[in-house]
Order: sequence, then structure tokens, then C-alpha cells
Amino acid sequence: MTTTENVEGRSMDVYLASPRGFCAGVVLAVDIVELALKKYGTPVYVKHQIVHNPIVVAETESKGAITVDEVTDVPEGSVVVFSAHGSPPSDHEEAKRRNLTVIDATCPLVTRVHNEAKKYAREGKKIILVGHRGHQEVIGSTGQTDMTLIDEREGIDVPEFEEGDAEVAVLTQTTLSVRDTAAAIDKITERYPSALVRNDICYATTNRQEAASQLAEVAEMVLVIGAQNSSNCNRLKEVAESYGVASYLINGPQEMDSRWFNGITRVGITSGASTPESSVAAVIKAIDPKNVIYVGQGDENITFRLPAELQATQKTAGIHTGTRR
Ligand code: SF4
Repeated sequence: MTTTENVEGRSMDVYLASPRGFCAGVVLAVDIVELALKKYGTPVYVKHQIVHNPIVVAETESKGAITVDEVTDVPEGSVVVFSAHGSPPSDHEEAKRRNLTVIDATCPLVTRVHNEAKKYAREGKKIILVGHRGHQEVIGSTGQTDMTLIDEREGIDVPEFEEGDAEVAVLTQTTLSVRDTAAAIDKITERYPSALVRNDICYATTNRQEAASQLAEVAEMVLVIGAQNSSNCNRLKEVAESYGVASYLINGPQEMDSRWFNGITRVGITSGASTPESSVAAVIKAIDPKNVIYVGQGDENITFRLPAELQATQKTAGIHTGTRR
């Protein structure tokens, strides 16, 4: 049974996390695709899903974007946007070989991790990245320079460097669990007490996890709205579960199961940094709650600048960027 049947009509309150949904990096990436389409016309290729959400990807594709997995899938001489998660230098090199016009939609907070990695490598430090193997952001970050990846899901295996007490710098994927990352960093600093530890978990991840913790304290069940391949959505679900509260990650009301709501009167709802607000609104509409009560610190007020090559297009096209939800 995967319908909303019998959900409507039950007497429930919704506790709605704030902040939730789009972060500044996602807003920037989606704006970049839209402006690239205005400036260059269709098609504009996007390497990797622009953000990890099928609705957002489908919307950009309906306007003329074509999502591809690899740079080698982009026809020579085309325009390509690199996704918000960041890309390894090898992708930029391949783009040059193929004579592509590249617009880089890497979130500035991911670019900061790349820059830190290159700086510490120049300084001769050994770099450890705490992140999830295979995630697009980790592929981009590990491509920047030599580094050792610790994926805490596989166990925290702290490397022994040949130099023994090497100078060590620790970087993190931006969308990790604050709690799990702290455990990994504790293990690393036990072995390398003078390690330089950067806190790269971004403001959006931190704030959404904090709000999810608050939701789990008041709700009997938490729905996280977003995609299964979204790292930060999965972390929000884990945060709620760590409080002993049942939590489900769904794209929208079509994936709700009415049995989840048996005996439930307080439903928590949050959404990941790549989830459009329309998906959240659809779930609330399906639940049809008695009251909607906001939980958390409230909205964020952060925006990132468009790449220089698109700023003029933004002005002439009159597209209102930086605020979509
Ligand atoms: S989740 Fe954080 S790092 Fe990722 S795009 Fe959003 S602001 Fe940037």
C-alpha cells in the first residue's frame, strides 16, 4: 500500500522544520543553468545531475538542458555546466580537449574545500578527507591532489603515513552528519593530536540537521522530503532516527504509506538542500493537518554571486535570481 488513502481526515499536526529545502549553492546552480540557456540557447549540457533531485533536474531539462554522466558524453564545441557538487581537474582537462565552453556551478563552499586541499598539499601536509566514497563531491575533491579518504560507514581506519608524525590536515565532505564526522575526527586527532582540522560541513547541512533534531524531539514520525541519492537528505533521516523516531525519505505524497500514520498525531516534516518547496507543499496538502507549527531557527539569509560571464545576462534577461525555492 503506497497511497495517501486514509491519511487525509486524520487529526494531525505538522511540525515543519525551518530552515529546510534549497540552500544558496543549489539556488546558484539552478540559476546558472537557466541563465546559460538564455545566453547560449538550447541545448546546454549539464555534467552530472545539476543537484540531486529528480524534479529539479526534470525542470531544467524541460527548458532545454541535457544531463549527462561524463564530459565525454558532451558533443565537441558545446556548452556544459558542471554540477554543484564540484568536479575533478580531469573533467576540466577533458572539456578543454573537446573545445567545450564550461560554466562551473560548483558551490563556493565546495570550491573552498578544493582550495584548502591544494594549499595544504603545497605546504607538504598529508591530507585526510572524511567523506562518502563514490559521492560526486568526493570524486571532485579527491581529484584535486593526493589525499586519503576515510568513509566512516566503512569503519574509521586512520592511515599510518610513512613519515610517522607527518603534519596532517583534515577536510570533510560538506554534507556529512555533524555527529558522525565528529566521531571520525576524534579518532584522527587521537592518532595525530596536532592535525589541522577544518570544519567543512556547510551552514545549510548544519542548520538543517539542527532543525531535524528539534523536530525529532516533538514529532512522533519525521518525513524527509527529497531524493534517495541526496546525501544531505539521508543525513536528515538518520538524525531523526538517532532520536528513536521513525523517519522516511520520500520524493512526495505519492510515496507515502498510510500505515506510517497509524496512531500518529504529530508529524515532523523537513527537506534537504536540493528539494524544491513544491514537494514539501504537496506532502502537507496530502496530510491536511489541523495546524502547521514551525520548528527551528528560521530562514537563512545567504546568497552566492553568479559567475561573471552570466551577470550581464541576468541583468538584460531581467531574471530574478538568488531567491527561488
Ligand atoms: S549543501 Fe552546502 S555545500 Fe552543498 S550546495 Fe548547499 S550550501 Fe553548498
